[in-house]
Amino acid sequence: MEEKKPNHSIACTVTQCANHACSCNFCALDRIMVGTHEKNPTVSQCVDCESFVLDASKSCEKVQSTGVNG
Ligand code: SF4
Repeated sequence: MEEKKPNHSIACTVTQCANHACSCNFCALDRIMVGTHEKNPTVSQCVDCESFVLDASKSCEKVQSTGVNG
């Protein structure tokens, strides 16, 4: 598997996402979309990364347990 390049402008700890850089706490996308599922957001829990894609292959878990991408 090709190693994903971290975008140091987008910090992220959601390793379950297919767009995560895996080897560090950054997103690998050039940009993301942030949105809300609330009509009137008041706290951070109201806000979501709408670029999230579930990593069904759990590739980040494999990287973190073995230290190797792929
Ligand atoms: S798309 Fe969103 S949730 Fe996924 S790694 Fe990037 S910032 Fe994190």
